[in-house]
Amino acid sequence: MRPERTVSPSSWRVKRKLFSVCAGMLFLGWVAHCLCFGVTRPVVALALLCWSASFLLLGVAVGTRRMPPWASGILAGLVSISAVTAIIHATGGPTSPYFVTLACTPLMVAMFTPDSRAPTLGTIAAMSGAVVVLNLLARVPSREFLPQALIFSLIGGLGLYGGRTYRRLRESERLAQEDRLLALEQLAESERKRRRAEAERAEMERRLQLGQLASGVAHGVNNPLAFVKSNLNYLEQELAAVDKPSDIRELRELLGETRQGVLRIQRIVADLRYFSREGATAEEQGSPREAMEEARRRALGHMHSLGEVLLDVPDELPPVRLGQQHLMQVLLNLLLNAAEAVEGTKPRRPALIRLRARRTPSDVRVEVEDNGPGIPSDVLPRLFEPFFTTKAPGRGSGLGLTLCQEYVARVGGSLTAENRPEGGARFVLTLNQAAEPASRS
Ligand code: ADP
Repeated sequence: MRPERTVSPSSWRVKRKLFSVCAGMLFLGWVAHCLCFGVTRPVVALALLCWSASFLLLGVAVGTRRMPPWASGILAGLVSISAVTAIIHATGGPTSPYFVTLACTPLMVAMFTPDSRAPTLGTIAAMSGAVVVLNLLARVPSREFLPQALIFSLIGGLGLYGGRTYRRLRESERLAQEDRLLALEQLAESERKRRRAEAERAEMERRLQLGQLASGVAHGVNNPLAFVKSNLNYLEQELAAVDKPSDIRELRELLGETRQGVLRIQRIVADLRYFSREGATAEEQGSPREAMEEARRRALGHMHSLGEVLLDVPDELPPVRLGQQHLMQVLLNLLLNAAEAVEGTKPRRPALIRLRARRTPSDVRVEVEDNGPGIPSDVLPRLFEPFFTTKAPGRGSGLGLTLCQEYVARVGGSLTAENRPEGGARFVLTLNQAAEPASRS
């Protein structure tokens, strides 16, 4: 039995339609003939009606998938040759005007069933038999009709060859398509490998640069901090016992300065720890919406209802090429800076911070705007310098914006600052869109 794996659902439908259309055309052909040339002979009418009815039945059999298309093709060829033979016999045998129709039948079958050879072969065999039978019935000598049968078979052979060429073309097309798909898969795989290698390299770099710096500073500064702080407390208590007022003032000033230095170191350690949190770089991409919502929630927690953070994010925002944790850290740092800037204004006013995201053709642009005093012109060029801060000791380390810019630049993005014409500062974060939707697998 012939395999049916190549028969697609659309192929069944097309065959069914083809049989129905042919059946209709045969019937209409008979009606048109009757109208134009008068009633046909009963044998011709019967042959045409049986032919049409057979095609209708074949259409139903193929449409309901009771018969494979290749079998229906063979039957269609045999039915056609039988009907044509009956019509030719009834209209004069080899001298009938319809005799040439016999040679056309294999061609038509080849045209309608190009994907399989059996129907055309069967029709050629039936046609050759019909030529012989019709000529024998008309008592034509065999040496006269055999060349005719040969020519008819050759014409059928042409149909066979056409079908074969069509099948080969389809096969080479299919192979080319498979090659194309394979090449695309290989391309996607090498792109995946490249991105994995890139991420691993970036991770190693990060560990070398930031990890060493962060843990080195954290451990190196944290230990002495503990005893410096306790010593200071002890000295302060001891000072209470000293009598000379000038000495006391001097020592107190010295102590105050030392405490400020200690507080500054403490702040640096806290910021380094915050930005070098474990696992933060494991992700290759992050969702801006989720990071913005999380950063807003945390910022409001720090602000103790002394202001509002308004979120403006479109529904459809693609993921960006910065890990979720880092993205949230960067945004939170910008929000807290904005809140602190507004806090420092005189007279005091509630903070109104806008966190807005927009999609551009290749990037996602996030803006943080505040209603603070803006950035002084002498501060603006130094904003991203390491350890540059205008905040009091213990409140600022001057590392926040430096680290934010470093993270963003590492993934091909940018972080810039400007003053808004209507007052207040604006920080603009631009990040490349990630190539694929975020997946945490
Ligand atoms: P830190 O916050 O520890 O001072 P940053 O690097 O985050 O360190 O900020 C550096 C300085 O940039 C701040 O001390 C402040 O002077 C300035 N700055 C940051 N954000 C704003 C803002 N929204 N408005 C005005 N000045 C700002």
